[in-house]
Amino acid sequence: MNDISQPLVALRGICKTFPGVNANQDVDLDLYAGQVHALLGENGAGKSTLMNILAGLYRPDAGQILLDGQETTILSPRHAFELGVGMVHQHFMLVDSFTAVENIVLGMAGPALHIDLNAAESRLRAFSQQYGMEVPLNVPVGALTVGQRQRIEILRLLYRQANIMIFDEPTAVLTPQEADTLGAIVRRLCGEGKAVVYITHKLREALTFSDRISVLRNGRLVATLA
Ligand code: ADP
Ligand code: MG
Repeated sequence: MNDISQPLVALRGICKTFPGVNANQDVDLDLYAGQVHALLGENGAGKSTLMNILAGLYRPDAGQILLDGQETTILSPRHAFELGVGMVHQHFMLVDSFTAVENIVLGMAGPALHIDLNAAESRLRAFSQQYGMEVPLNVPVGALTVGQRQRIEILRLLYRQANIMIFDEPTAVLTPQEADTLGAIVRRLCGEGKAVVYITHKLREALTFSDRISVLRNGRLVATLA
């Protein structure tokens, strides 16, 4: 916990409109290294939109994003990754016909021809052992369970050395046992100094998993609680 230090991420006055809906209205949010920040709210409250903005999928209509105190324009998901921001989406973004290794290495900077798949695989295997996330790395991901695919998404963030990790309703697709394991992984990532965002619509999960809770309602931030 380091509440007194500068936030790793500061969102200021974020606004985002979709046709007919204000998905985010003037939202402020601070994220700190070594903390899990729960983003709580009902379906449609604007949680995914806000984090998709930080992850480079959407551009805000108004507002600022400060990373380490520097105002930053996040141009794309790849750019977000380069800045240390990674997101495990509610609907996974893996290509079914590719293996874990292929999915993770693909889309990274540099010409694909120069990527050493074997080296990538050993690095992934090391992460998977270190974090207790066993998962087949050489099978097309379409053949895997959702729990396994989620692990691949998490390995992807580790591989790309994200220090800001966003989990969008991660337990929605998991068995209770898998959800417990995920909780332990999230706590561990936070213990390693990463800033973790945990999106959920379940109050109990927010209370169990997080250091701070921000509540969104109809696109507006209604509370932030320690
Ligand atoms: P939450 O993640 O809290 O359930 P969302 O951020 O997904 O909420 O959605 C907030 C509002 O914005 C909802 O009304 C939703 O229908 C709308 N919305 C989200 N994404 C889009 C989109 N790509 N196009 C149009 N409307 C969207
Ligand atoms: Mg959502």
